[in-house]
Amino acid sequence: MLLVIVAACQARDENPTRNSNAGIDLAAYEIVDLTHALNEQTIFWPTSPTTFKLDRLAYGPTPGGYFYSANAFSMPEHGGTHLDAPIHFAEGAHTTDAIPLDRLVAPAVVIDVTERAGADPDYRLSAADVEAWEGEHGRIPNGAMVLLRTGWSQRWPDRKSYLGDDTRGDASKLRFPSYGEDAARVLVEQRRVVALGADVASIDYGRSTDFLVHRVAAAANVPGLENLTALDRLPATGATVIALPIKIEGGSGGPVRVIALVPRAR
Ligand SMILES: [Zn+2]
Repeated sequence: MLLVIVAACQARDENPTRNSNAGIDLAAYEIVDLTHALNEQTIFWPTSPTTFKLDRLAYGPTPGGYFYSANAFSMPEHGGTHLDAPIHFAEGAHTTDAIPLDRLVAPAVVIDVTERAGADPDYRLSAADVEAWEGEHGRIPNGAMVLLRTGWSQRWPDRKSYLGDDTRGDASKLRFPSYGEDAARVLVEQRRVVALGADVASIDYGRSTDFLVHRVAAAANVPGLENLTALDRLPATGATVIALPIKIEGGSGGPVRVIALVPRAR
């Protein structure tokens, strides 16, 4: 009996994929950055009071003979590649620090509407689009994160092209595609997705004035990921996304580094 147990233990140790101490086999994945860098060009909502600012505090040799650099940065929560915490549009919903981590680390499904959005900048993903996608790729599982690919990230950082209008202080003339309300309801209320992301400035389309997609998502404590990039490098299914915002206590959102683990072809 003892021999059997010893043999079983040895067999386990010899197979690294079964050794729980080995962790994730990262060599099996390509790590893709879905984040725009923060800089002076970073796009914010037209009504944002300020943008991204980096002030140099130190850069150069010190009297001690070593090099030292440090900066101070400031920005509104909602600009560049960022997270919308549910409280952004729902009183009492999760703040940035309170979002459960399994809503920010999840399998991703990518819905590609680049062709339709290219033909119509007011394009909104519909419930029928979601069903058509599922007809091809299978039902979107509970707990997935949905990423909407419109192709708009190619326009970054040209504000006029990306937002449809570059009038500062006026958000009434924006034009870009995104989710429609009926698609959001299917995804949030029926498929129970954990987050809605998009490669545009908002999970509501540019002409929205009632922000229904934000409200549907926020009411279900589903966070948003906005201004994503490089979604063309993800498969429709099979990637795992890690989207960790800085942990602002009580925050309504915040800058986020979003990466995807994409299985390498074997
Ligand atoms: Zn936002």
